[in-house]
Amino acid sequence: MTEKEKLLGAEQSSESTTGNSLADRRPTGKCIRCGRRLTRPSSVDRRMGPVCAAKAMAELAECGANAS
Ligand SMILES: [Zn+2]
Repeated sequence: MTEKEKLLGAEQSSESTTGNSLADRRPTGKCIRCGRRLTRPSSVDRRMGPVCAAKAMAELAECGANAS
């Protein structure tokens, strides 16, 4: 067994035995663009707030237009 496998095994067992890990998995996160805290599950899911997501979409559209 490699060190990595040991770590992975330890992680899995602690997850299944301790219920506390669930509390750390609340749907919160940080925006990858501005670093603001995200509280909405939909925002956490795309790792961006609605404003930054709109900006990112606009940038993507712009890039696509430039490329073609
Ligand atoms: Zn943001």
